[in-house]
Amino acid sequence: MNILLLGSGGREHALAWKIAASPLVERLICAPGNAGIAQECDVVALDAADHAAVIAFCRAQKIGLVVVGPEAPLCAGIVDDLNAAGIKAFGPGKVAAQLEGSKGFTKDLCRTHNIPTAAYERFTAATPAKAYVRAQGAPIVVKADGLAAGKGVVVAQSVAEAEAAIDMMFGGALGEAGAEVVVEEFLAGEEASFFALCDGESAIPLASAQDHKRVFDGDQGPNTGGMGAYSPAPVMTPELTARAMDEIVLPTVRAMKAMGAPYKGVLYAGLMITASGPKLIEYNVRFGDPECQVLMLRLMSDLVPALLAACDGMLKNFDLRWYPDVALTVVMAAKGYPGEYARGSLIEGLDQAAQVEGVEIFHAGTRVEAGRILANGGRVLNVSARGGTVAQAQARAYTAVDRIRWPGGFCRRDIGWQAVAREKGKLEV
Ligand code: AMP
Repeated sequence: MNILLLGSGGREHALAWKIAASPLVERLICAPGNAGIAQECDVVALDAADHAAVIAFCRAQKIGLVVVGPEAPLCAGIVDDLNAAGIKAFGPGKVAAQLEGSKGFTKDLCRTHNIPTAAYERFTAATPAKAYVRAQGAPIVVKADGLAAGKGVVVAQSVAEAEAAIDMMFGGALGEAGAEVVVEEFLAGEEASFFALCDGESAIPLASAQDHKRVFDGDQGPNTGGMGAYSPAPVMTPELTARAMDEIVLPTVRAMKAMGAPYKGVLYAGLMITASGPKLIEYNVRFGDPECQVLMLRLMSDLVPALLAACDGMLKNFDLRWYPDVALTVVMAAKGYPGEYARGSLIEGLDQAAQVEGVEIFHAGTRVEAGRILANGGRVLNVSARGGTVAQAQARAYTAVDRIRWPGGFCRRDIGWQAVAREKGKLEV
């Protein structure tokens, strides 16, 4: 079949790499893609926000399946529009995508269905939100309701910091996303990203992963979209995986079905593993980036039948196989990221880097000009590796990083440090 993949980041490069390897695929096209994706498949300039144009393209190219990478087109309802036009698409419809598009929607769903999450209240004005903060005390977490590209969450260590965050959000700094605010309890524990494939009725767990959100070594500095990740997450024992499915993912799938908005696609649960078990921090309605990169490296099965089974409601007896190896990815970003950064710097040495055993390099933000690869974004490369241990995957990834000549870029040097320490028995499990 012909498949259209929407998106242009490292997540989509990893998906393109995995989908292109499927014997079921005749032609894979990615829109808009990037320089790395263009090495896996055809790329076209197509605006995912223009649903009519996407539908026309699918008809002209006889596309049998559309795979939507990022959340914005999902929240805009592209899957509903494609389905209405008779085109199969992987991902949730507009109402189900509110699990990411509205934090208040998800919190209310958790409350109604007894899904473990932080205690919270929703607010549409600053004064009552601040009164709630003062009553609860710090630490406390302030969240913009809508999509805010990773900038909508403030983990406040003091009441004053929480009040400032409330003023910032209601003051319009995040636009419409901050018109409503959720204030919630601070959860202590270790975080894990947990992924499940859902078909509207049933769900199967994918692998788990852990990411590093802070920009600098030692998990210091401002938050980013993610500076690296590894899979599996050692904290996600089989017992915790079963609890996450039974207490969080499956009740959510049942609730969405009962609401008349069945959830199909990948459900990404950001979990806090607390003393009393897994609690939901947030949902995302698509693969994580960079977590997707490590999941795709570990997936042994063909991805395409799994995507089709999710669309067709056929996951009940589906089985996926995984390599037992660890996968780890190091994000190389443009200097200055997550603040101001320059575009257009030259990247060399990618071919030599890709020759390191077990290494796969996914492009997150690149373009090609006269045969040369140029940086074209904040997060630019995902240098990824498989290994028998976290330490081996990490060593391979950094060996490859050191072969890349890119003076305009930087990366963290400690991706996977907790897991490596665990392996060495230096950190208590
Ligand atoms: P989110 O965008 O909701 O994933 O939040 C970004 C980050 O803020 C999470 O990865 C957590 O590290 C942190 N965070 C969010 N909510 C809470 C909470 N209730 N308690 C502690 N940390 C939180």
